[in-house]
Amino acid sequence: MTTIEQEYADARPKSRALHARAVVRMPSGVAHDGRAFAPFPFYVARADGAYKWDVDGHRYVDCWSGHGALMLGHNHPAVQKAILEQARLGTHYSACSELEVRWAELICSIVPGAERVRFMMTGTETTALAIRVARAATGRQHIVKFEAHFHGLHDAVMAAVKDPFEIPVSAGVPPSTLTTTLVARNNDLAHVRELLDDHPVAAVILEPAGARSMVVPTNPAFLRALRELTRERGVVLIFDEVVTGFRMAAGGAQEYFGVTADLTCLAKAVAGGLPGAALTGRADLMDRVAFAGDAKRDRTQRVADQGTYSGTPLVAAAGVAALEILKTGEVQRELNRLGDRVREGMNQVLKTRAVPGVVYGASSIFRMHLGADATELGLHNYTADTARLDRGMGAVGGALHLAMLINGVDYSRGAAHGWLNGAMTDKDVDLMVEAFDRSIVRLREDKRLG
Ligand code: PMP
Repeated sequence: MTTIEQEYADARPKSRALHARAVVRMPSGVAHDGRAFAPFPFYVARADGAYKWDVDGHRYVDCWSGHGALMLGHNHPAVQKAILEQARLGTHYSACSELEVRWAELICSIVPGAERVRFMMTGTETTALAIRVARAATGRQHIVKFEAHFHGLHDAVMAAVKDPFEIPVSAGVPPSTLTTTLVARNNDLAHVRELLDDHPVAAVILEPAGARSMVVPTNPAFLRALRELTRERGVVLIFDEVVTGFRMAAGGAQEYFGVTADLTCLAKAVAGGLPGAALTGRADLMDRVAFAGDAKRDRTQRVADQGTYSGTPLVAAAGVAALEILKTGEVQRELNRLGDRVREGMNQVLKTRAVPGVVYGASSIFRMHLGADATELGLHNYTADTARLDRGMGAVGGALHLAMLINGVDYSRGAAHGWLNGAMTDKDVDLMVEAFDRSIVRLREDKRLG
């Protein structure tokens, strides 16, 4: 019998040929670490709604959803129209435009705690600026981050992203850049308190719903307690809502959990699928970036910020079009319902097939784990071993992804999770659950599961 790898490869000769060309000119043949996998990645020719098609003619339900950015699915008519119309009017003015004003107004009307907005291009930039603003505002240098939480690629947040947490997630990070980065255990308020007692901390930063898009879920009670603790200590609380913003609810995790941060990092959904991001939050903090008109103060105490592609009209047009739809919360409520259905459906498959495992997550995000159930992993009471969840299911994870691709479903392979989007319907949820069932059967046949 052919293996899953062979079956995948044999059906994708054009992708194989493209990858052979790509590896000559691009490291690992890809533009993003998360897109590299064996035997070779597939190449997409077009996408529409809930689906994308590869160059060999296979259709996939796209549960990667633009790395989470495509909250409304591919080519939503209103977003597409806004992009096409703006492309005719110019893509970059080297000047201000009404669109960016509207975009900022929309964000402030939707996101809890958003009083001012600074547009940027990537999530990475927003967490870097948030930390800099917090340091400038408090006069302190240390920051607290949590094990397995991901905040982009700048040096200060490279600590403790992946197991083993003692080693930065990338080579080339000078240890000196991490001396002020303190690492806390997830859902452990006593540990955070200890770190705040022992160090002059400017900010605590976290993905509010949990490390790496809910791989390690956050206890809502912990989140509320963290809010109180940071407020008492005058420490800036930064929510990295790059993934959860506009997804868990119109007002993101802050609305979902009823906890408001001091600064909020937004990217992905905020720009309707184009490259755009925004830092938002309390006016007194955000105004650290504003010019005061006092030359000395502006030169010595202001937080500088500028990016060639910050707030460009093309991106703003897509952002405004998307947020005008997302602001009511209707899309999110429907997606949260579909999210529950996916998780229930896949967990039922595991039960029926008697495979130890769990599909967990919240809202419109699901994560698959084979080999241990929710109780064993400590998911029910937030006592999970972060390193274990971070490592995921090991080699079987790659085989599951290939089997799901063979069965017409793609998702973020790295952490084995999927993001739903507004183009999806109950029919697509059925496709995902059926694909999961066939994939589990196939893994068994291939002797990849016990
Ligand atoms: N924070 C979180 C929680 C993310 O998931 C990501 C990217 N997936 C980032 C920050 C970085 O965003 P970007 O890739 O736009 O720099």
